[in-house]
Amino acid sequence: MPRDYYEILGVEKTASEDEIKKAYRSLAKKYHPDVSTEPKDVAEAKFKELSEAYEVLSDPDKRKMYDQYGHDGVKQQFGKDGFTWDDFTRADDISDIFGDIFGSMFGGGRRGRSRNSPQQGESLRYDLEITLKEVLEGKKVNLDIPHSVVCEHCKGTGGKDGKVTTCRKCGGSGQIQTVRQSMFGQMVSIEECPECRGRGRTSDEKCPHCRGAGRVNKDAHISLNIPKGMEEGMRLRVAGEGNAGYNGGPAGDLFVVIHVKEDKTFDRDGPNLWTGITTTYPKLVLGGEEVVTTLDGDKVQLKIPAGTDVGTVLRIPGKGLPRTNSSSRGDMMVRVAVKVPKKVTDEERELLQKLDASAGGTKGGKKGKKLRDKIQETIDDITG
Ligand SMILES: [Zn+2]
Ligand SMILES: [Zn+2]
Repeated sequence: MPRDYYEILGVEKTASEDEIKKAYRSLAKKYHPDVSTEPKDVAEAKFKELSEAYEVLSDPDKRKMYDQYGHDGVKQQFGKDGFTWDDFTRADDISDIFGDIFGSMFGGGRRGRSRNSPQQGESLRYDLEITLKEVLEGKKVNLDIPHSVVCEHCKGTGGKDGKVTTCRKCGGSGQIQTVRQSMFGQMVSIEECPECRGRGRTSDEKCPHCRGAGRVNKDAHISLNIPKGMEEGMRLRVAGEGNAGYNGGPAGDLFVVIHVKEDKTFDRDGPNLWTGITTTYPKLVLGGEEVVTTLDGDKVQLKIPAGTDVGTVLRIPGKGLPRTNSSSRGDMMVRVAVKVPKKVTDEERELLQKLDASAGGTKGGKKGKKLRDKIQETIDDITG
């Protein structure tokens, strides 16, 4: 069992983003393998643990997942083998602590280097709509997502059979300098080499399979478990399923962003589900039962206590949505309304008038009991 992220950072569960950042910075300075006095592997393990904790707690979405589901909730974010350096997307936060030495640990590519160095491929986003029922039960989805992969024929070089030569135009740097005269004097600008498109390498003959691009489009077949209890806007990270990297760099990631479809019957409030029922006036006064259907599809007999007001919210415990990675669930909240008939028979009209007169007559008196008896009589009249 991995250690608690809050414990690793030494902060409270309620810590603000700022406090988390501060705690991380001071610990990172202490544990960084370049400065730590501990053996390299020990220092590295500690620093990795710290970085993982920070990566999760500094991201509001991931933190929410972690608070709700613990380590299981964020495991998906880190791919099959847990956290790796590639998962560390917040290099910017620490680069100003350690400067550039550190940048190289993260695969680079994020700091405007020329394109002939390895670069991570683009990350992709996929918006997935799920129903409230799928929030309740979780879902396994199979997605076909177009992404680019390294062309296997040229191994990503773009040259036929992988044959490439150093670009003659830029001498392999991938950049060319142009000097222009302007009213401010000489202007020197550095631009991407148009010949090799910044790669520093060209091929006499282009790879026919990718037409020289080094990458081809292909569908990624992704099988993904959507955990129970997902909320609108939560992201699941599928490591390495984004676009192929450049010049041997790692592939980007795929982020599946969850959207929860509105439900006709239920409104969601965190783990709780809200719905309504209509009942009759006599049932509100005398008490009774109504059948309600839960999101699971079960029919539940809901007790309406005697003397229930219109608008009262009755709670059915445990019939809401999954709350945490325990099996606990939120509640179902049922707001009570009254069915008012649009048409009444003559008999009903008479009874209602009687009832109204009687309710008026007991005003200020011991109305509770009397009114109740009256209604009971009225019901007996109708049903009898
Ligand atoms: Zn190719
Ligand atoms: Zn060039």
